[in-house]
Amino acid sequence: MLQKTSHFMRQANLINGEWVQADSGKTIDVINPATGLKIGTVPYAGAAETRRAIEAANEAFKTFRKTSALERSKLLRKLHDAIMDNQDALAELLTMEQGKSLAEAKGEIGSSAAYVLWFAEEARRAYGDVVPSPWADRRVLVTREPVGVIAAITPWNFPSSMLSRKIGPAIAAGCTAVVKPAAQTPYSGLAWGALCEEVGIPKGVVNIVTGAASAIGDEICTNPLVKKITFTGSTEVGKMLIEKSASTVKKVSMELGGNAPFLVFDDADIDRAVEGAIMAKYRNSGQTCVCTNRFFVQAGVYDAFVEKFAAASAQLKVGSGLEAGVQQGPLIDGKAVEKVEEFIEDATAKGGKVVVGGKRHALGGSFFEPTVISGATTDMKFMKEEIFGPIAPVFKFETEEEAVALANDTEFGLASYFYTGDLGRAFRVMEGLKYGMVGVNEGLITTPEAPFGGVKESGLGREGGHQGIDDYLDTKYVCIGGL
Ligand code: ADP
Repeated sequence: MLQKTSHFMRQANLINGEWVQADSGKTIDVINPATGLKIGTVPYAGAAETRRAIEAANEAFKTFRKTSALERSKLLRKLHDAIMDNQDALAELLTMEQGKSLAEAKGEIGSSAAYVLWFAEEARRAYGDVVPSPWADRRVLVTREPVGVIAAITPWNFPSSMLSRKIGPAIAAGCTAVVKPAAQTPYSGLAWGALCEEVGIPKGVVNIVTGAASAIGDEICTNPLVKKITFTGSTEVGKMLIEKSASTVKKVSMELGGNAPFLVFDDADIDRAVEGAIMAKYRNSGQTCVCTNRFFVQAGVYDAFVEKFAAASAQLKVGSGLEAGVQQGPLIDGKAVEKVEEFIEDATAKGGKVVVGGKRHALGGSFFEPTVISGATTDMKFMKEEIFGPIAPVFKFETEEEAVALANDTEFGLASYFYTGDLGRAFRVMEGLKYGMVGVNEGLITTPEAPFGGVKESGLGREGGHQGIDDYLDTKYVCIGGL
């Protein structure tokens, strides 16, 4: 297994089919968050390397755009198979650099493959239209063409699957790509390069650079050869990229922050709600943009929910992701732990009660205890800010209207969840929530078949679903006259 892992662990960038170092020779250390030890290095590339990657992608686009949808579909199917054939090795690499449990890492690699397969299928369904013409002697066609070079910037929390939703539709559409994975977790990103090579995706179609985020980002945003930028990460950086991309009027897709509410009504199945709450809160130790940030529980079931949820939270096994049975790995780094501590200090100073957890885990490093806080109030920091850690604040509400208003009281609008046994309420609340995604009696809803994405400041565009390829295609209207 280790030998396989090292095959995918590329300590170089992929530009125009060559594995290369940064021009300066500088590197960044990659740390295993479970041990604090260095795993290896990756190049610290900047604007010049990024420009070369963009130019390589632009050159490759000249031929790749002419491949048939069926050819690209077959390439993606091969890519899917290669990912699944190496699921264990890729998952181990992911856990090593990211920290999540091996079970979750395997799940993520499986999800990457599933997105690739989905887009292998969607490649063949990027239909245009033949529109009834208002003229007897002309015909009206609407075709869809690949936008050209796309650039993808991805975060450390899902270092593999976030790329599958970008590389998958890019290849499906006939685009070429420049990819920048997060500095904390570059190997799962670079592994895409090894996989693409292995299945015969032509050189220059997928280029991967690691290094100075702002230098790479600036080159991507201002280079006119890049026609689309797709970003998953913080709202702060996303806004900056939108602004910078304005100079070259690029298409932008943004998957930004969330502030997911999780509503539990008096008529809900409480055991099911607790089960969903555990998944919606603690996946990746709370470090996902769809993780619940705020639990709102109706007064009649508040105590029962808190008690059962706290008991289930206390059962979670914390430890190194590579150890069997571990459910909660470490947080990504020390800064993340400090941020989590600040949320807890703020809440307890304002009257919140730590029911379970509340402190650094005995294992040390960046391990933190799964934490439930009861008596949460709207003046606490987590009402507005994304926690990105294993803290579950539980607010109490009285009425449905109040719950929906509280849930919507945020500039974010990514995922939301609610539990009820009442059909009428299910529809009212589902329609009332200003969110891009709603889980009704479900705490885990992401799947390639459905459009993932947010409203308000949570982002622009959708990944997955039949919508997931739209942003990689330009629409062209063709009028044929003189018939
Ligand atoms: P997170 O809080 O999850 O680290 P970031 O938005 O900081 O979120 O990071 C997401 C991705 O954006 C990473 O690949 C990171 O390197 C990249 N990034 C950070 N700052 C910039 C920037 N100024 N320009 C371009 N990319 C950036």
